[in-house]
Parts: sequence; C-alpha cells; structure tokens
Amino acid sequence: CADQALYKAKQAGRNNYQFYNEMCLIDSEKELVSGIKKALEQNEFFIVYQPKYNLSTKEVNSVEALIRWDHPEKGLISPIDFISFAENHHLIIPITKWLLEQVCIQCKEWMELGYTPVPISVNISTKHFEEGTLVEDVKKILSKTGFDPTNLILEITESIMNKNEEQAIQTIHQLREMGIKIAIDDFGTGFSSLSYLIKLPIDLINLDKTFLDELTDKKNISLINSIVSLAHNLNLLVVAEGIETENQHQVLDQTGCDIGQGYFFSKPLMGTQLQRAFLDTKERNEN
Ligand code: C2E
Ligand code: MG
Ligand code: MG
Ligand code: MG
Repeated sequence: CADQALYKAKQAGRNNYQFYNEMCLIDSEKELVSGIKKALEQNEFFIVYQPKYNLSTKEVNSVEALIRWDHPEKGLISPIDFISFAENHHLIIPITKWLLEQVCIQCKEWMELGYTPVPISVNISTKHFEEGTLVEDVKKILSKTGFDPTNLILEITESIMNKNEEQAIQTIHQLREMGIKIAIDDFGTGFSSLSYLIKLPIDLINLDKTFLDELTDKKNISLINSIVSLAHNLNLLVVAEGIETENQHQVLDQTGCDIGQGYFFSKPLMGTQLQRAFLDTKERNEN
C-alpha cells in the first residue's frame, strides 16, 4: 500500500503526509476513524466515574473520569480498544476536549444541586502534550464552563518525557500555575521512573496495578515502601491503583500510601450512581 499511496500522492501533486497517511489506511482502520468521528458527533461516548479513597479515613478523595463507547452495533467498547488508535490517528485531542467539557459541565451541575465539590481527574494523552495545544485547550474549556481549576487533576504518563523534556516540564508548570494538579499515571511501568519523579513538577503519583499483583513478595512491599517515602520526601501523594482485596488495602495502608482506587472500594459508576452513592450534599454535611 505504501508505495502505491506515495506514487498517487506525488501524482496528485500533493506529497502531503496526511494525504499519504490516509491512503495507507486499510478498510478496517478507515471504518474505525469514521466511527470515532461519528461517535463524537452523535454522543456515543459517555463517561463513568471511579472514586479514589483516602486509605486511612476511607473517605472519597477524588473521582477519575473514564471514557466508554456505546457503539450502535458493537455494543460497549473499552477505552483499551480505541484510545491508542485515536492517539495514532489525530483523534485523541477532539475526544479529550469533548470529555473535559462534559466533566466540567457535569461537576457544575452537581455543585448547583448542592453537592460538595470533589476533585476530578481526567486522563491526558502524551500526544496532546506533544501537539502543544494542551494549555490553551484546557484554559478555553475552564473559562467556557466556569469550572474551578483547583478541583481538576490531569493524569499524564512518563512518556511525555520521551521527546521534548523541556517543553513537557514547561507545559506542566503552566497548568499548575492555573491551579490544576498533575498526577503521573501507571507509575512504575516506564523505565526512567525515579529520575522523572525528581524532574517533574507534579503533585501525585499513581502506582501501577502491577505492584499489587505480587504483594505477597516481601521485596515488592519494600519497593512500595521506598517509593512512598521518596514520594513523601518530594511532597507528593501516592495513589495505589487496582486494589481488589481487603488484604491489599491493609498492606498498602501500612506502607503509608495515601490514596487507593480499585474494585475493592468501587467500580467505575455512571454519573447518577456516583451522585447517589458518594457525593455529599451540603444538607447532609450540616446534619
Ligand atoms: P487508567 O487511567 O490507569 O485507569 C484505571 C483503569 O483501571 C480503568 O480502566 C479502571 O476501570 C481500571 N480499574 C480500576 N480499579 C481496578 C481494579 O480493582 N481491578 C482492575 N482489574 N482494574 C481496575 P479503564 O476504564 O478500562 O481504562 C483503561 C485505560 O484507558 C485507563 O487507565 C487510561 O489509560 C485509558 N483511558 C480511559 N479513559 C480515558 C480518557 O478519557 N482519555 C484517555 N486519554 N485515556 C483514557
Ligand atoms: Mg488514569
Ligand atoms: Mg491510573
Ligand atoms: Mg493504570
């Protein structure tokens, strides 16, 4: 396909990357590209919310927004099956902008109903960092919706450091100047983790679920202990991802880990379920 596409692109007088790229997509990829565009236009995406808990008080600390796709023919599609595709086909930025705006609108609604605001986290693709429009895009959505940036956490991954470290750090500084908090997601799956902890101006680290898979191993527990104390020395909070059992909860609490997320506490919930189960109204707080 590549040779043929390049030939046609040249013939057409447009040795243009985008054009060349589109010519090379196989039919199933073209279908997914148009499917995602259609999903955005026709509101096939929706958002679920998974609470994160303060491990010592067991109170809700924050809520993570996670995307889902309700495909008209294929049914429910997990983000694992379309996010990286979207990242590779220039579709992650429109998806993120849609999601962030929906989240801001939803939270404002909850506040207007009298619920006490809870910080909310949104996953941000490294592609968005590299594109250079993240700060501007976030600013626009915050000012359009009037959402309080101090209640927003952006989850990024270490891969933002793969290309342009300076630019990545600069972008994080700009976001934090706005009052936004930054978390490193899936921490420990990359290979330069410890040096990035020191370099990146962040607020939280999300310990990847793989750490929990071998909690019976004493060495693994001492690794978590060390990461937690390093993080605390750097003034960072530690979030454990994927807590599924009471035992994991207890072991992590003993390591000094601050926050936990996982099926043990709650699965991701629809907005209405979250509202009913976890958000405290002012009235309830006052009683
Ligand atoms: P993540 O950001 O690390 O999110 C945590 C994932 O772990 C979620 O999967 C959540 O449902 C799952 N999880 C939480 N607790 C447990 C547990 O106790 N056990 C197990 N086995 N899993 C648990 P989900 O929603 O399928 O999302 C997968 C990944 O897709 C996310 O990982 C994130 O990287 C990406 N993603 C999801 N929504 C978005 C989005 O709106 N934008 C972007 N860029 N990425 C997203
Ligand atoms: Mg996340
Ligand atoms: Mg995570
Ligand atoms: Mg993860």
